[in-house]
Amino acid sequence: MSGAPKVHIRSFGCQMNVYDSHRMADTLAGEGYTETATPGEADLIILNTCHIREKAAEKVFSELGRVRRLKEEAARAGRSVTLAVAGCVAQAEGAEIIRRAPAVDLVVGPQSYQRLPTLLRRVAREGALVDTEFPVEDKFDQLTAPSPQATRARGVAAFVTVQEGCDKFCTFCVVPYTRGAELSRPVAKIVAEVERLADAGVREVTLIGQNVNAYHGEGPTGEAWTLGRLLQRVAEIPGIARLRYTTSHPGDMEDSLIAAHRELPGLMPQLHLPVQSGSDRVLAAMNRRHTRTDYLRIIERLRHVRPDMAFSSDFIVGFPTETEADFAATLSLVEEVGFASAFSFKYSPRPGTPAADMEEQVSDAVRHERLLRLQRAIDRQQAVFNARCLGRSFEVLFERAGRYPGQLVGRSPYLQTVQVEGERVPDVAIGDIARVTVTQLSPNSLFGTLADAPSA
Ligand code: SF4
Repeated sequence: MSGAPKVHIRSFGCQMNVYDSHRMADTLAGEGYTETATPGEADLIILNTCHIREKAAEKVFSELGRVRRLKEEAARAGRSVTLAVAGCVAQAEGAEIIRRAPAVDLVVGPQSYQRLPTLLRRVAREGALVDTEFPVEDKFDQLTAPSPQATRARGVAAFVTVQEGCDKFCTFCVVPYTRGAELSRPVAKIVAEVERLADAGVREVTLIGQNVNAYHGEGPTGEAWTLGRLLQRVAEIPGIARLRYTTSHPGDMEDSLIAAHRELPGLMPQLHLPVQSGSDRVLAAMNRRHTRTDYLRIIERLRHVRPDMAFSSDFIVGFPTETEADFAATLSLVEEVGFASAFSFKYSPRPGTPAADMEEQVSDAVRHERLLRLQRAIDRQQAVFNARCLGRSFEVLFERAGRYPGQLVGRSPYLQTVQVEGERVPDVAIGDIARVTVTQLSPNSLFGTLADAPSA
């Protein structure tokens, strides 16, 4: 194969990994690489892994088995393919990955992506290597910014990492070990990045971080800014019509952030606020550092400043020591809040975390049965929330063409997917925001027609 070398990056897990994959692609573009969606034609394959889900490492090893076969096929055709593993599994497993999967050439942790070009040159010279250091330099300073064309190709809604890492040490979670201590990017760097995105046509920005509302980046005069203050500043950037942020910790929902929901019309009325359990005893065992009452008070304060707030959350069921009474407290919290959506998982131990060594593990049968009950309750609430949207009109940001001619797909303020059809759809462009009246529902989407002319 001739021409520019090609890189295929496969992202697993959260938006932080999607963002990191984009920045890796941008950095490699500076080295002449073009991106390909077809792994079979790539010269470099990067698996950007996630450690959150159950048996994450095992899933990566089985994926590596498939990719190894591609590498072998390429070798038979006289072509050399470099295989890299990035992300949280790379950080957690390190050299073990190369020991178990010798086809891997490079293991690179999330804090070292700015060194990718150098690391790839070293691999070509010296053979397989592992870099899971937490270097002192700021990786964001050294990662290449995307070109306007690359930004446009990624759509009108973009993620911007403002914070990384976590100091909370919830007893079930690997993030503090794989992503390291909390680190916030300076305000000026974030503003410059969002301005570049806006210039390339981005209309909606989601500020992301493992613990985004613990943001405390340096402001222009040297003092630390809160996330609320940062949102106020980003909202002033011309062209940016919508803002979101994720993922938040209830303990960091400080006053300026709650005020931002009252003061910024562009801050969307939807918040993902993980609670994990409705039982104070389990929350303490999880080291969540907040109580059920704390959580409910935050929901109440946000609904007070923005009555149409929609909430989503994360739940872990069957955490070690969880009793039926603890689980009933979770179900009652769900009833009390009324979530628009939520993610729920059976607890599964992560090696190296304190909860993995707790003695009173809950049996799989009980975890499974509780998960089904919780998911039924959440599904009911989601159906109620969506049903309340029927007949209502709200603004939709159009993100892409639909599957059928004459159809456009966008997002509601509450993050629902909205499919729009009708005679006036040709008047609307990707990136426009227009009022849509919801006429029909399906479990995963709303359907509607244009209510007003689009606003640019
Ligand atoms: S706050 Fe979130 S990222 Fe941090 S340890 Fe807890 S669950 Fe993990």
